Amino acid sequence: MSQVEKFVCIGCPIGCPLQLTHEGQEIVEIEGASCNRGAKYARQEFTDPRRGMSTTVWIDGARWKRLPVKVSAPIPKDRVLEAAGEIHKLRVEAPVKRGDVLLRDFLGEPGVEVIACRTMARE
Ligand code: SF4
Repeated sequence: MSQVEKFVCIGCPIGCPLQLTHEGQEIVEIEGASCNRGAKYARQEFTDPRRGMSTTVWIDGARWKRLPVKVSAPIPKDRVLEAAGEIHKLRVEAPVKRGDVLLRDFLGEPGVEVIACRTMARE
């Protein structure tokens, strides 16, 4: 029996309403996209939804107390809270350079890193 999932494409400000029809895990049809990116987005959201993540961590020895960081690749949507908890445990020491890798293979995902987004000198 066919079922329908609805999404709103975030590929551009138009925000096309997408309707994905599936039978179990098999995608039957994707409607509502004004360009190819919409279908790709709906397929990704249905099969493996992921989210980018940026936050801050505690830093010692710098002028500011929080260091902005980001995860280098989108992570599974259902692991976002777990990811936030892991990053929250981080405490780094100045100096730090923008681009420094603070965690490798984050959440056991090969090649995914937590990266410093700002240079902070030792003060
Ligand atoms: S389907 Fe294409 S036109 Fe529509 S919101 Fe997505 S990117 Fe924009």
